[in-house]
Amino acid sequence: MRITIKINLLTTTWMFCIMALVNFVVYFSFMKYTINTEEVAQYQKADDILKVISSLDSSSDANEKLKEFLTPHSYIRILKPNNKVIHEITNDSLLSKKIRGKYSETKQAQRHLISAEHGEEQVLIVRVPIKNRNQIIGSLETGERLVGLETSIELLRAILVICTLLAVVLSLFGGRLLANMIMRPISNMIKTMEEIENSGVPKTIPIQNKTKDELQIMARTFNRMIHRLQEIMEKQKQFVSDASHELKTPLTIIMNYADFLRRHGLENTEMADEAIKAIDSEATRMQKMTQTLLDVATLENESYLEMNELNLVSLCQSILKQIKHVYKREISLDYEEDPIIIRANELKIKQVIIILLDNAIKYSKDNIDVFIEKDERHAIIRVKDNGIGIPQGEIYNIFERFYRVDKARSRETGGSGLGLNIAKSIMKLHKGEIKIISREGTGTTIELFLPKKLKEVNHGI
Ligand code: ADP
Repeated sequence: MRITIKINLLTTTWMFCIMALVNFVVYFSFMKYTINTEEVAQYQKADDILKVISSLDSSSDANEKLKEFLTPHSYIRILKPNNKVIHEITNDSLLSKKIRGKYSETKQAQRHLISAEHGEEQVLIVRVPIKNRNQIIGSLETGERLVGLETSIELLRAILVICTLLAVVLSLFGGRLLANMIMRPISNMIKTMEEIENSGVPKTIPIQNKTKDELQIMARTFNRMIHRLQEIMEKQKQFVSDASHELKTPLTIIMNYADFLRRHGLENTEMADEAIKAIDSEATRMQKMTQTLLDVATLENESYLEMNELNLVSLCQSILKQIKHVYKREISLDYEEDPIIIRANELKIKQVIIILLDNAIKYSKDNIDVFIEKDERHAIIRVKDNGIGIPQGEIYNIFERFYRVDKARSRETGGSGLGLNIAKSIMKLHKGEIKIISREGTGTTIELFLPKKLKEVNHGI
């Protein structure tokens, strides 16, 4: 069953139940109040009749006196024990025929329903004892058709039925309106999802009015998710096109030299030697690049890193020892204290520091300084060189994949434009930050901020 129909049926049924309860309360309150009022009036009449009876003497005409108390459709009876009627006057023969007299020594009122040709008739009967010097000598019974009540009940019933029907119809329409209002954004969402499913292209849902209800929040969340998906897809596309573009240059060089070797063989040993060296160097470059690309792709999908306690001072000392050995460059290390402990993934942090040192070595000739310090929340690693620096306008771009300030120079130094992108992703996984302070021609300082208290598991990059 469709949810709109369900909401509609539920609201209508609920409205019907409420109306039934209201009708019940109104009907019975009305009946109780009206009958109570009638009872009071009848008892008053019975008291008046008793007064008249007590004042009667044998010569008086009881009928004449009692007739004055007859209202339309009523009767008055005087009874002796054993329900024996000794006196009765009436102006409604059906009434006195259908209701049998009953002797009662106590006051009592009773509502009675009698069936007549035109329907049911409501009759109120009141019985009071007739006393003479505190002795009960008989019982007075008065009966009166409640014509007013009958008319009021009919009117009340009609009003209640009309109101109930009206409420049910209004609730049906209201429910339909409500269901449509709730379902419109959901239907839009379903439609958009189906379109996405069929075309494979993520799309957002059009949001008409800017309210802050849950459905709008749901639609906006859906749109944000779609935007994120579009971004990821865009990034992936960019990544694939960048990667193929980057691999095209070494491949062209390899193909050209291979073609040269195929045509000329080893005739010219000097040229052949140059071709083989070039093929070898470009193939090595490609191998390195594919490894780096794999690193980038893995980091993009990584949401969990195993964290351990790590002394940054001893880690930097061991990295510097290896690097100094390979590059024969002067690199100084300064630290506030030893140890400086953080929770981090040692391999990844080592990778970041090597990327920074590698850049400092590639883009400077003088001394390189590494500082380790800490503030209240972070351990900070600073790698400072006095090299070529980065132009102010380029600083924001250098974390982009494959972005290189001077492509020719980077190529010479073997740069791929991926190092800082990887460093940034690793810092993100550690909930840390990477900052660059650089001046063209003066030098570059790159700072790593690593939180001192980091939980074991990191969700989401
Ligand atoms: P690459 O492998 O090309 O060095 P990176 O992502 O590590 O790639 O760096 C991106 C670009 O940022 C580099 O090509 C270079 O132009 C610039 N860069 C990075 N570090 C430095 C530095 N210490 N000094 C000058 N330029 C730098």
